[in-house]
Amino acid sequence: HPLPLLYYYLAFVKQGNRPSKLAIQALERALQQALSDRSLMLHYQPQVDAQGRVVGAEALLRWQPQQGPLVLPAGFIDVAEDSGLIAPIGRWVLETACAQLRAWGAQAHTRHLQLSVNVSARQFRQPDFEPQVRQMLEHAGVPAGQLKIELTESVVLGDVADTKHKMQALRAHGVDFSLDDFGTGYASLTYLKQLPFTQIKIDRSFVTDIGRDESDEAICATIISLGRSLGLEVVAEGVETPVQRDFLCARHRCGLMQGYLFGAAMPPEAFDRMLLAQAA
Ligand code: C2E
Ligand code: MG
Ligand code: MG
Repeated sequence: HPLPLLYYYLAFVKQGNRPSKLAIQALERALQQALSDRSLMLHYQPQVDAQGRVVGAEALLRWQPQQGPLVLPAGFIDVAEDSGLIAPIGRWVLETACAQLRAWGAQAHTRHLQLSVNVSARQFRQPDFEPQVRQMLEHAGVPAGQLKIELTESVVLGDVADTKHKMQALRAHGVDFSLDDFGTGYASLTYLKQLPFTQIKIDRSFVTDIGRDESDEAICATIISLGRSLGLEVVAEGVETPVQRDFLCARHRCGLMQGYLFGAAMPPEAFDRMLLAQAA
């Protein structure tokens, strides 16, 4: 069976090409359709502490069109941002995350879990973003302290004063913030000083070469100690090997890790089974 045209567009966009207007419109229509026919879903990737216990998860968006393979966010988040569709998609992500937290709250083996959600620039810029999040939490009846919002520097870049204001309002309500892909941007330290983040995530690109590249090791060690002196939690992303884990956690006392070594993003049922096995 030939793949639907959609996949050619997605591959084209992913290669960094500028797709034609027609291709973008087709993608937008397909995404709009995905929103209404429930072919978007969230997968959950475990976050573990130094003892290997699962303490939370990151929600990662997936798209399963009617026919064809699963689509990862790299293929469509940009189109969603450009078209403005990120607003309804991002809202759906947050609602689904809150519903998941509610479900976790009802079971002894998942009650303690924190959930991190990625929020993109345009979504965060919406004037009503802060009340939106508050209402969703209230509606789902989950404690705000269990929700963490992951922002990247691109979110902050636009308007630092506005970002600070919004973050403070949500922090006052109990929602925490994590700075994603830390170390890959330009002015991270400035932002860290000005904005009320509680966590930083070491970008996967620095973790990958632990054991092979001394400067990447130095960067990881420096970020961990920076986090410690600023009182911020540090998560290492993309941990795939025991060598990386031991360097980060045993040697440099990084508090939290996430990566294929502990589990890839998985559907909620599989995540639940993992937690049940851990509790047993
Ligand atoms: P991110 O937030 O930095 O997410 C981490 C990415 O690294 C995920 O890719 C995850 O599957 C992948 N990953 C985790 N552990 C490993 C590992 O050990 N090795 C390797 N090679 N990769 C690992 P994914 O799910 O494809 O997401 C890519 C990006 O898309 C995310 O990067 C995030 O920026 C964005 N994204 C995902 N979900 C959402 C969402 O709901 N909303 C928005 N706005 N963006 C999202
Ligand atoms: Mg993230
Ligand atoms: Mg990241």
